[in-house]
Amino acid sequence: MACMRRTGGKGRLRAATGGMVAALVALPVPVAAQQREARAGSYDVSIILPDTGNVLTATVDVRLAGDQEEADVLRLDLVGLTVDSIYAQGIDSRGPRIPVDYDGRILRVPLDHDTHLFRRVRIHYHGVPRDGLVWRNNAHGHRTVFADNWPERARYWLPTVDEPGKKAAVGFIVDAPTGWKVVANGAPLDHPDAGRGIGFWQWSEDHPIPTYTMVLGAADFSVSRHRPTRSGIPIEVWAYPEDSAYADSVPFRRATEIVEVMERLVGPFPYEKLAHVESSTRFGGMENASAIFYAEEPYVERRMGEGVVRHETAHQWFGDAVTERDWHHLWLSEGFASYFDLVIGATLDGDSVLRTGMGASAESYFRSNVVDRAIIDTAEHDLMKLLNANNYQKGSWVLHMLRGLVGDSAFFRGIRDYYGGRRDSTALSADFERVMEKASKQDLDWFFRQWLSQPGYPQLECSWSYDSGAKRVTLKLTQAQPASWGVFRLPRVAVDFPGFDGSVTRRRVSVVGREMITTLDLPGAPADVRIDPDEALLLRANVRHRSG
Ligand SMILES: [Zn+2]
Repeated sequence: MACMRRTGGKGRLRAATGGMVAALVALPVPVAAQQREARAGSYDVSIILPDTGNVLTATVDVRLAGDQEEADVLRLDLVGLTVDSIYAQGIDSRGPRIPVDYDGRILRVPLDHDTHLFRRVRIHYHGVPRDGLVWRNNAHGHRTVFADNWPERARYWLPTVDEPGKKAAVGFIVDAPTGWKVVANGAPLDHPDAGRGIGFWQWSEDHPIPTYTMVLGAADFSVSRHRPTRSGIPIEVWAYPEDSAYADSVPFRRATEIVEVMERLVGPFPYEKLAHVESSTRFGGMENASAIFYAEEPYVERRMGEGVVRHETAHQWFGDAVTERDWHHLWLSEGFASYFDLVIGATLDGDSVLRTGMGASAESYFRSNVVDRAIIDTAEHDLMKLLNANNYQKGSWVLHMLRGLVGDSAFFRGIRDYYGGRRDSTALSADFERVMEKASKQDLDWFFRQWLSQPGYPQLECSWSYDSGAKRVTLKLTQAQPASWGVFRLPRVAVDFPGFDGSVTRRRVSVVGREMITTLDLPGAPADVRIDPDEALLLRANVRHRSG
């Protein structure tokens, strides 16, 4: 997602219910760890959205994935709702009713294959979601409903295995108040019975997507169909009628072109359509697969930029189609979206977009409170705190420096291979590293270790002197960053020597070790020394002339 719109205490991230119930059923559970858990292949959700109030009534069919005779239990996250009944489902028939085993936090469905071969499990439930599905009046005073799941808030309204790596297909059938339009993931299967006063909407996403992107949004929308991509992907802008003309003409003016740039650079758009949706999400933008939700304030205040659109669109490839299997590898989502925002911008508007944007990213990372921590920060368990300058700005710099190291051709070949090989699946940083090593034919272990597992960045202190007799410059380079950040390896750093006559001589210096002295042939005395003048590296350098 884009940067946080409002932070807000996220005390509800961890469920607080269930303590009492757990105490009542404190029977010795025989080696629960050995229970084999079923995987969910898809969720088919039928939901009734009421005209008034916010009671949710829903049925979810969970289709089990793989060979389910291997599994003993289907364990679903569902917080604070009332489970009315559960039925086993065969291929065509409704199976037996299954006793409800639910502590207000986890729903356990035992899979007794001796009595029935399960294909699906049907769960009927209702209640007022405390989070995840949000009823709210919009800025124009009209009632709306939006799902807002990141990171693990789908469980407040949908029974799912609510982990980023447990991707599944999802379908929605939504019975919404008359006059509303409903958007969700995937393709529309049925249009409302127009003229009959029935607000019945059906969407289906056939690709497995992370639960944190399984959403519906319902409101009085104006829907604009933009030019489809050359590959045939429908591009839609769903905005409140008051904001629709603005949305079409300003932030989403180039919505189609943005997708086309990503298709050219990375690979085919992963889903059936792309809808850009004005919403009540707490995030500036939330990259829900094929139905991106954006905060409404920038629309209403007419200050919405294209950057958030590029960022969220890039997430469709990175984050949604290729999903971080573990939250601690969030840079695979946020660092990629942050970098491709600028890469798309540079493709459409010129290289200065990338250069200016990377400079701004570096400054905001330097100023952040996470420079003492590594990108892969397994000690951080507050998921909201992972939305930080390491996963966004420094993550984008990892990609930028990798591109500089291996060159454009190997970099984009690797990016395309990574997307092609991991699409509709998940990845960890090591998976990306392996693909990039293959594409570049280089050992990149040191690079990924240094930038993902070490905190901080290089702070170079440089002093220099020139020997006019020998026509040589001597550089002394010290890595002056805190010892706890470690030492960085910086191959072939560009160093420019501007002369007094306006000429500039460039040399390359490989920085290794905490301190090094190097001498370079230089035809004339330099007026100055500039380390990394093209700003290709995430570093700070301080240069000082040493007389004599
Ligand atoms: Zn993002």
